[in-house]
Amino acid sequence: MKRFERITYAVFGVDVITSVRPNLDEEKVYLAVREALSLWSTVTPLSFGAPRAGEEPLLRIRFESDGQPSLGELGATSGFVSSTPTGPTGGADITIDSDNLLFLDRYLESFPIAVHGGPFDLIAVIAHEIGHGLGLEHPPIDPVTGQETESGMMSPSKGTAVIRQLYPYDIREVQRRHGAIQLGGAVNANLPETGRLIDASSGVHLQTAGSGLVVSGPTEPTSRAVFDVLVPAKNSWANALRLQFTTVTQNVFVNRLDVFDGIFPLQQFAISARNSGDEGLAGKSWDLLLGFLSRPRLANDMLVRTELYFTKKDGQPQSDFGVLQLAGVTAETLPPAFEFHA
Ligand SMILES: [Zn+2]
Repeated sequence: MKRFERITYAVFGVDVITSVRPNLDEEKVYLAVREALSLWSTVTPLSFGAPRAGEEPLLRIRFESDGQPSLGELGATSGFVSSTPTGPTGGADITIDSDNLLFLDRYLESFPIAVHGGPFDLIAVIAHEIGHGLGLEHPPIDPVTGQETESGMMSPSKGTAVIRQLYPYDIREVQRRHGAIQLGGAVNANLPETGRLIDASSGVHLQTAGSGLVVSGPTEPTSRAVFDVLVPAKNSWANALRLQFTTVTQNVFVNRLDVFDGIFPLQQFAISARNSGDEGLAGKSWDLLLGFLSRPRLANDMLVRTELYFTKKDGQPQSDFGVLQLAGVTAETLPPAFEFHA
């Protein structure tokens, strides 16, 4: 039976980044850190948690500001953590340069005119540095073309896209260093049976379409919609949630996802997915793997609450309605018998 290695982490300087980045607050910064960590723990038998009394954290994530964005450097990491037969060793110091324009909710936050590029995805910046902290390097450069042989979260430059998923390069490399996770079954939500609109602006509709759901609403003025679906995964150990949807029009974006064990909050995810071509993922269809840091055993069925907005921005094609198709919500579970490394 494969053990789960416990890697401790601590976050410093949250007051620094929230004071220089008015679009971010403490809650958003911690959400970004958790989501960045969960990208890695989803595919490897690692668990991330706070150090116990007297324990030194292995990953030390620090937000810094000297009033000057360091050009081309969003973050830096020295040292890394290795997995060994006797547990994790080493340690990493990660610094994030808070003087760059950084976002969490790409389409709700506003920014000053960028002087040195950006705004940049805070989750991707942290996830990239955590990758270094787990021992990963940038993808190799082809000596003939001078280009990367493949892309990754570990690519040194990702532009201003919203990238909150690992690439095959990242998964292969982190599993080579820390092992691959062994999964149990997958539990699908019955979307037409359980889909329910719970909070919506006037004119927003939720309809069934085959085995999926379609949400639509007027884009002017901005509409908000929150809908629930239920995943019958009671008594399972939850590793991750797979979310498959298509942003059919340019005027709809998925903002947040809240996951509950019955009525008890499990984890929140920042999605910021929109069909506008600048997200860096495969076109307008999204297939997201969202990991649970605590890998809980569910006492109830899993409630998945999605928040989205329909809104028209200047320069976008005219459209009266925003349309989103939800194709699948699936809980990825762990085998019944597994243990955490104490
Ligand atoms: Zn790097």
